Amino acid sequence: MLTNKTAIVTGGTRGIGLAIVKKYLEQGANVAVAGSRQETVEKALAELAEYSHRVMGIWPDLCNPESVAQAFHSVKERFGSLDILANNAGISSRTSLYDYTLEEFSKILDINLKAVFVCSQAAARIMKAQGGGVIINTSSMVSKYGQPSGCGYPTTKFAVNGLTLSLARELAKDNIRVNAVAPGVTNTDMVAALPKEMVERISAGIPLGRVGEPLDIANAYLFLASDLSSYVTGVVLNVDGAAMT
Ligand code: NAD
Repeated sequence: MLTNKTAIVTGGTRGIGLAIVKKYLEQGANVAVAGSRQETVEKALAELAEYSHRVMGIWPDLCNPESVAQAFHSVKERFGSLDILANNAGISSRTSLYDYTLEEFSKILDINLKAVFVCSQAAARIMKAQGGGVIINTSSMVSKYGQPSGCGYPTTKFAVNGLTLSLARELAKDNIRVNAVAPGVTNTDMVAALPKEMVERISAGIPLGRVGEPLDIANAYLFLASDLSSYVTGVVLNVDGAAMT
């Protein structure tokens, strides 16, 4: 479904991002794994050795426009185009408002929001020049109704939805589609670290009766990256088993 396409996946070294990387590679794309450090990117690339001719690593500072532009151009140089950007890197928070420092609030804004803006701008410049592309952002189910602690996290995800809808409208004329995926509780390192009973309790409250797997999210990322969604833009797609936790 993605043969001859080139994708960049931020936060592609583990969790949901690595599942997206694997899905895109399986479907024939060239993929650049973007991580925060060379060491973690190289570890992920070692896991993808069977695709070594179609995969590369980059580790730009996602909040630095020059660093991101340089890295994204290196991907275009290597593979010939940039067709898909998956803005997936993110951090979460559970800090109470009473303990939240401005530094912590600024950090989550930087990684979860500012980086999405910087990467979308760099990618859109390349995509516009080549005639089009697709940008997919990672939102969250908490972007619909907030969460009872860690207010910085839902704040950034509400903003990601706003950026998604706005860029969809602005970039449509350049044949660039912009959508988001809003995962529910998903079985990455964070969830794996929770006690089994807690995961069972969370699962019992989800209408589909289980937490999501990274593959559930990656499948939505495949749909939105492929031509199957050619008339879909400005959508925040819930992939959460109808959870409202
Ligand atoms: P994870 O912690 O396993 O992975 C996060 C990825 O982001 C890592 O690859 C990490 O290296 C990268 N990252 C973090 N800070 C970075 C930085 N400064 N620069 C570059 N990369 C950085 O988390 P995950 O669960 O796979 O989450 C991926 C995305 O999905 C995030 O945007 C998260 O908010 C979102 N999400 C996750 C869940 C869930 O339950 N796991 C639910 C809803 C949304």
